[in-house]
Amino acid sequence: MIIPKESRLTPEQEAELESITAEFGIKLMKITGETRQIFLMIGDERQEEMLARIGGLEYIDRVDMVQEPYKLMARGSELANHKVRLNGRVVGEGFTVIAGQCTIDPKNPNHFYETAQAVKEAGGDALRGGVWKPRTSPYAYQGDVKALEILMEAKARTGLPVDTEVMDPEQLDLILKHDVDILQVGTRNALNYGLLREIGRRIRGRKIAVLLKRSMHMGKIEEFIMAAEYVVAQGNPNIMLCPRGTTPAMDGYRNHPDESIAPLLKERTWAPVIVDPSHSVGKASYVPFACLAAAGYGADGIIVETHVSPRHGIGDDPKQAVTPDVLAKVIRDCRAIAAMQGEYMGHLLPRRAVARA
Ligand code: PEP
Ligand code: MN
Repeated sequence: MIIPKESRLTPEQEAELESITAEFGIKLMKITGETRQIFLMIGDERQEEMLARIGGLEYIDRVDMVQEPYKLMARGSELANHKVRLNGRVVGEGFTVIAGQCTIDPKNPNHFYETAQAVKEAGGDALRGGVWKPRTSPYAYQGDVKALEILMEAKARTGLPVDTEVMDPEQLDLILKHDVDILQVGTRNALNYGLLREIGRRIRGRKIAVLLKRSMHMGKIEEFIMAAEYVVAQGNPNIMLCPRGTTPAMDGYRNHPDESIAPLLKERTWAPVIVDPSHSVGKASYVPFACLAAAGYGADGIIVETHVSPRHGIGDDPKQAVTPDVLAKVIRDCRAIAAMQGEYMGHLLPRRAVARA
């Protein structure tokens, strides 16, 4: 919908507007109210170039979009009934839990094997383990390819699908040579459109899924959904959206917790929402509350940093990993909360069968 600055456009202005939109296959419908005119666009109004040209006209106040800017990620898109699966199970049915160490310490593989077993026993659905780490300091531990072998060994021992972060095409090559189930795109790369496109292209036709963290610098919800659209547009729709907190942080927390966007994401898109409470609040003693909050907000699951002995961990584990006993209780409680939500989901998404009820 095009909203002019003045109450009426001159015939020349109207003709100019019509000729621009016609170039993009759009017809205009003029609606004349008592005090002003607006112009509805009939056709695909999401055309960036056209929007920029109209927005640049000195007599136009603004263009309000009726359609969402994303196509495939929209709840009404042809992918609306797509289900993301892990080990054959639909993500979100029964509240999905991905848990494991922030960082796999190649010097301590047994810790990771024990953590993996504990995640399985606690009822986790998938195992996370950081091989390469995005560290603020270039002098901090950056990761080690040996950890990829440890991750795969833990998968073989437990049968759990595995998740690890990918930061560049070289790592992507290595990961794709192994049987990794979930490619995690971290908060720092959620705006790296070249990498998102490359990942999408390389996983086309494969069963692998992407867990896309929300960039800590993202504001508008569209930005997050459009980042997912970059991956999905390449042909593999197995994507999970992961709010993980934004910056500036809420005083005392690591980030500004954002699990509250779960219902909004679920309303706008069909993709499962997996909240990361660990990086959001950043301290082990706060994490269980944030997990329950995520379940309360209707998330489809959580990804939680867990370690059998956090004090012996590396990366984020000493400060924010929960122990397996805490994880086990959190999983039980989150699943109980999620099981209560069928009716609320029914109000949020009235046209959709609510599988969880
Ligand atoms: C992580 O999952 O360990 C991590 C680095 O996450 P984020 O990209 O959200 O900071
Ligand atoms: Mn971490």
